[in-house]
Amino acid sequence: MITGGAGFIGSHLVHFLLAHDPDCRIVTVDALTYAANLDWLASLQGNDRHILVRADIRDRGHMEALLRTHDISDVFHLAAETHVDHSIRQADVFVSTNVLGTQALLDAARTVWQVGKPDGPDSRHRFVHVSTDEVYGVPDRDQAFSEDMPLLPNNTYAASKAAADLLVRAAFKTHGLPVLVTRSSNNYGPWQLPDKLIPRVIDRALRGLPIPVYGDGRQVRDWLHVVDHCAALVAVFNQGQPGEAYNIGGGNVRANIRLVRQILKRLGLPDSQIAFVADRPGHDVRYRVSTEKIQQACGWAPTFSFQQGLLATIDWYRDHEDWLRRFKPA
Ligand code: NAD
Repeated sequence: MITGGAGFIGSHLVHFLLAHDPDCRIVTVDALTYAANLDWLASLQGNDRHILVRADIRDRGHMEALLRTHDISDVFHLAAETHVDHSIRQADVFVSTNVLGTQALLDAARTVWQVGKPDGPDSRHRFVHVSTDEVYGVPDRDQAFSEDMPLLPNNTYAASKAAADLLVRAAFKTHGLPVLVTRSSNNYGPWQLPDKLIPRVIDRALRGLPIPVYGDGRQVRDWLHVVDHCAALVAVFNQGQPGEAYNIGGGNVRANIRLVRQILKRLGLPDSQIAFVADRPGHDVRYRVSTEKIQQACGWAPTFSFQQGLLATIDWYRDHEDWLRRFKPA
């Protein structure tokens, strides 16, 4: 089961698993909120190894029924509300989906997999909870986040993800549910909706609109190609230790303003389109993760060079301008 499989990373994971594991069958579970994009999943119509079910992870009864009906052995849990700006304006749905939804899914898996029962089949299963590096907040000095650092989230989205991480940990400690937590840095790649930084900049640039940059644009993010993220999730699934958390990062640390200028340069457009706007409240200045643990424990390392991955991504959006135009400019 892939929850949030109609979202940006989830739909890449569906395609990645189908391409790399000839034995897997996938049930994509997604509530199809505004953030879902069915355009890429549409190419899987008629594929008997994949089905899409419209369902809400907060509905524990429905999750139990799906786990039973489809004899689900493993869960990759990606469904979430993910837009930081939305979380600042309207927190309740973030708490509801990211926190209560995660708990509903944990409870459903524990019940159906009979975790903790003598001779229960729990060791056959894996529950991979996909989280974010934003749960760490900002380190005191320019140090990279390691998995044992305290969770000190600074915005509502990150706080709801951190709460979910702790509930996942508790499901392992209390009930022995075989969970693994991953904390990834910012993803980029094709098919991301244009309300997120990279496609948004490209979309607005191509439409000739001003490109808003928060504050002075010096916020630093570590960029990871979405396909590298999928490979990392599979590596953790196969080789990670239940109960453990693993950071995932691309090692491509870059200030937002530099990224925006690079995009404009590739599109042959002037920097004068940039418009600095008031900073986002609680805006973290820097995220950077250490990936030593996943490299050593799971043998994963990113394969995309940021330079090539970014240019290919910009070109992909330019070639799919008609797809971008289906959305209102964000
Ligand atoms: P996204 O916003 O593109 O997709 C989220 C998907 O979840 C959507 O298809 C939406 O319909 C679905 N969804 C929302 N609420 C639901 C509910 N109640 N029940 C079922 N489905 C629901 O998100 P994304 O960027 O693909 O992120 C996926 C996961 O990865 C999230 O958990 C996010 O926190 C995490 N993550 C994302 C990034 C990133 O850079 N995008 C980085 C680190 C971690």
